[in-house]
Amino acid sequence: MDCRTAESLVNAYINRTLSVEQLEEFIKHVRSCPSCYEELETYYIVHFAIRHLDDEDGENMTFDMHKMMEQDLHNRENYVHRQKIRRVLHIFLLVLFLLLVFGLLVFAAMRLGHIRIPI
Ligand SMILES: [Zn+2]
Repeated sequence: MDCRTAESLVNAYINRTLSVEQLEEFIKHVRSCPSCYEELETYYIVHFAIRHLDDEDGENMTFDMHKMMEQDLHNRENYVHRQKIRRVLHIFLLVLFLLLVFGLLVFAAMRLGHIRIPI
């Protein structure tokens, strides 16, 4: 992913509308590009500030924005990782299911005498 694409996805990242593939590419880029990381951090702070502007108890609270964004990036990296594992697991279960169906068909065909095993 290049910087222009990454910059265009900052809002989608913050609003959590990226697909898993986009999210993975985006995080990979942001992790390796200080300029885009900084850009994301700025947007993140502004977004957070706007969202908590009206919070009455927010007045005396201090936030470590850098830490919060790091935590957020980390959580989403875990999310991408879990989604990938889920996908692999789905494919594995599908293959297992197809093998089972195929095995049953072969078994049924053998029982009915359609397939003979030469001894
Ligand atoms: Zn970049």
